Amino acid sequence: MITTYIFDLDDTLIDTKIYAKMYPEVLKMIKHKLSLSDFELEQEAKIKGVPIESHGRYDSGDLCRELGLLGEYYEILEKHIEVIDVLHDKVFDVLQMLHGFKVGIASNSMQRTIKLYLKKYGINVNFVFSHDDAGCKKNQTVYWKKLIEKEKLNPLNCIVIGDNPIDDSVIPSKVGFKTLLIKDLCEVVSYINNKNLH
Ligand SMILES: [Mg+2]
Repeated sequence: MITTYIFDLDDTLIDTKIYAKMYPEVLKMIKHKLSLSDFELEQEAKIKGVPIESHGRYDSGDLCRELGLLGEYYEILEKHIEVIDVLHDKVFDVLQMLHGFKVGIASNSMQRTIKLYLKKYGINVNFVFSHDDAGCKKNQTVYWKKLIEKEKLNPLNCIVIGDNPIDDSVIPSKVGFKTLLIKDLCEVVSYINNKNLH
């Protein structure tokens, strides 16, 4: 029986276009603060082990963390969060449907980032598990093992819901979680309705 619903954040609950929008400003800030050319920045990223992601950009939070510029990063992120609407439709509907269940967030983002979004929209969940808690990303089984330990979960009673086949399905299912791979939160609404939870 499912008692716990664990949601991915990026592109599941929030729209990541915010990161594309702030990206030029983040790169400009890094180059200015560290006096780097484009080429030197690429070299630094390589040395620090920050890869270019599938969307063709660095994860700007990871890059700033590795370069010691988190304060500057959050100045930019907070400014953008204030004015850009990022919450996906249906988040409140889904949360309301899950009233009485344990609901958590498992994200590759940093704790501070996740909390900014939750605060902006007044969202309350039972737990938030982040990159900071795991010390790695969701594509490693150790991430999920640490989540199980920290939140004292029985993975057989949990369902992980997200948009990334590896992060949100293949890897968590290796340690026993049920998973639901989605493109849109509407699919979660159907899933819950089919389960006849209410
Ligand atoms: Mg995602």
